Amino acid sequence: MAKGTQQPVYIVSENTRRSSGREAQRNNIMAAKLVAETVRTTLGPKGMDKMLVSSLGDIIVTNDGVTILEEMQIEHPGAKMVVEVAKTQENEVGDGTTTAVILAGELLKNAEILLDKEIHPTVIIKGYRVAAEKAQIILEQISENINEDNDDELRAIAATAMVGKAAESAKDKLSLITLKAVKQVLEKKNNKIKINSSNIKLEKKIGAGINDSELIQGIIIDKEKLHSAMPDIIKDARIALIDSALEIKSPETDTKVQIDDPNKMQAFLEMEEKILKDMVEKIKNSGANVVLCQKGIDDLVQHYLAKHSIYAARRIKKSDMESIAKATNATIITKLNDLTERDLGKAGIVEARKVGDEDMTYIGDCIDAKAVTILIRGGTEHVIDEVERAVKDAIGDVSAALELGKVVAGAGSTELELAKEIRNFSTSLSGREQLAVQAFADALESIPITLAENAGLDPIDTLTELKASHEKGEKWAGLNVFSGKTMNAWSEGVLEPLKIKTQAIKSATEVAELILRIDDVLAASASEKSITPNPEMM
Ligand code: ADP
Ligand code: MG
Repeated sequence: MAKGTQQPVYIVSENTRRSSGREAQRNNIMAAKLVAETVRTTLGPKGMDKMLVSSLGDIIVTNDGVTILEEMQIEHPGAKMVVEVAKTQENEVGDGTTTAVILAGELLKNAEILLDKEIHPTVIIKGYRVAAEKAQIILEQISENINEDNDDELRAIAATAMVGKAAESAKDKLSLITLKAVKQVLEKKNNKIKINSSNIKLEKKIGAGINDSELIQGIIIDKEKLHSAMPDIIKDARIALIDSALEIKSPETDTKVQIDDPNKMQAFLEMEEKILKDMVEKIKNSGANVVLCQKGIDDLVQHYLAKHSIYAARRIKKSDMESIAKATNATIITKLNDLTERDLGKAGIVEARKVGDEDMTYIGDCIDAKAVTILIRGGTEHVIDEVERAVKDAIGDVSAALELGKVVAGAGSTELELAKEIRNFSTSLSGREQLAVQAFADALESIPITLAENAGLDPIDTLTELKASHEKGEKWAGLNVFSGKTMNAWSEGVLEPLKIKTQAIKSATEVAELILRIDDVLAASASEKSITPNPEMM
């Protein structure tokens, strides 16, 4: 609606809600800040968990930033943009989602203070951008190198991802398992390390304790042995992977087979039986003693397979078939006629196993398996779900460290070192831009501040002490959240991949910029929802 005219002039539908200028900006900033506030209390080893209850009554107890935000079903458009930051972080690294969101919220909070001082958004954006670029350079300089031989550091990275989460009680074992799993699926091309984390299968089974989780040199699938007469254990397994049905195809369209003579009927049935029997012969002739099929297996085929002491399981997920192929070095076959000995996968053992009260097929002792399984155990569903999220974070962190070959220390040390260097750099800039760059440095300090707050420490005292150590040149001075003292985060083994930090800064700056650029919000009022945040929540 144009202001200043007698008669309102509508250029958009009368029902469109419009907010513009500072109002629009404040509204979005407020929403982003609220998102950051929500996850803030979960950061770090002393962070608390959140319980999320869905409309159906499903419960999730978690400490994981992205999980919380995804489950909250956030509606506000500005807030949604911040949720995207967490999702990007999750996809790119797998860990550091809370950090990224807190940073985004803090950048916007500090921008608001500058806006109040009548500094134009474009100046703030420019300053943030310059600071973010500088931050990437500094990060590269302060980071340390790491490679596959640095087992201690790699394990420390995995353990750091689990601190403060349900997985912590078993972090020694889980970090070892994580490292072994990652190393096992690691591939090297032109001296570049590539890790496809989908080759690490996470299988969860309620029961036993977290410490009973194990790494399996192969794959566990939740499919039972098909026929009771089949053997329970096959040693030196030679596995045929077949992705078509071991059945007689039912015609796609209605087809009529007219049989007018009882003899023909008999012949027809015999022919069917022969086709099925031939299938089993082909499998047997290839030398296979295990058949894993993505589709169905006819009863008769099951019967003959059992007769030949061949183990079989059916209706296996496509992704599992691919993992098994990787783990056993098998080729997945579509046409049974093509099956030869060379296509068979090898495993030391294939076994029908009961895990908890479920029947599963265990394909283990694979030599040089390029796909492995981590079997996660724990007392309740909520516990193993949370352990799974932590193990995923750890896999992401160790992979990111190896792929990039760079690590930094955590506990707020990296953020403090960055803030210090960026402040030094800001002195070379003029007036208003300098203020924006300093605001960026302040935002970085929100990470150690939050770690302190969550540990029940005085954030100001703690920060002063930490900053003094950094001024003295101790770049890895971080917060010991247990004692409240300053510690050398590197030697204490609080390590994180460089990528957590580079990605968090990148995404947080991008979203801050995006939100600061918006000065007009036009919302079609299809629904009754208001885009104004609830004042009580401010
Ligand atoms: P995120 O979702 O950002 O990964 P976390 O809850 O996992 O959030 O917390 C990560 C933060 O906790 C990082 O800043 C990390 O350096 C810090 N941290 C992890 N372990 C320790 C520790 N033992 N002591 C102090 N800080 C730690
Ligand atoms: Mg984490």
